[in-house]
Amino acid sequence: MRTLENLQMVGGCLAFDFINTVNTRKPEPEFEYLETFENLIAWSEKAGSLDVVRLQALRKYAEQQPEVASAALRDVTKAREMLYALFSAIAAGDSPGAAVTGEFNRRLSDAFQKIYVKFGPGGTEVLFCNEEVAWNEPMYPVLKSAFDILTGGDFEKIKECPRCGWLFLDSSKNGKRKWCDMNVCGSRKKSLEYYYRKTKSRHNA
Ligand SMILES: [Zn+2]
Repeated sequence: MRTLENLQMVGGCLAFDFINTVNTRKPEPEFEYLETFENLIAWSEKAGSLDVVRLQALRKYAEQQPEVASAALRDVTKAREMLYALFSAIAAGDSPGAAVTGEFNRRLSDAFQKIYVKFGPGGTEVLFCNEEVAWNEPMYPVLKSAFDILTGGDFEKIKECPRCGWLFLDSSKNGKRKWCDMNVCGSRKKSLEYYYRKTKSRHNA
């Protein structure tokens, strides 16, 4: 059974692990890991992207205002699909369209208004939102991660698994990682199945 507990995080960065919260994208998502706002909180907890205290506050808000929480979740999944479109285009060597780029920038500037840096004896700390907790707070670290990848300049590393559409950063030495996970999509049998399906569909086209 698929659960958030056994969801693999193989994206290599927070943004990609967030985008990979559907089981597949080829052809369409079949299983949604972010079915409820509580799922989103649990995912953030698992990813370690937000402070536990802030997550507790969000959980309390969601219990008190379930309808607002549902609307907030719809917006978060909309943002996720925008991020997928953006990075999927880059992985394919294309440029993301103007609509996707515009939405990304709008959400990014919203997130960056809530990001601040703290200096301490241990070094620099990046913190999110120093006021009251916000519904879209789980998105701030995700968008920051997406920004870091986009400005890191190493687009060659941004890849999409040809079988399931999960995104990942290829940090392998030879830069030839093809699958999200060898055991899930890259096993010999599954690779052959994928090959034959592709061959067949090409013949049918
Ligand atoms: Zn895959």
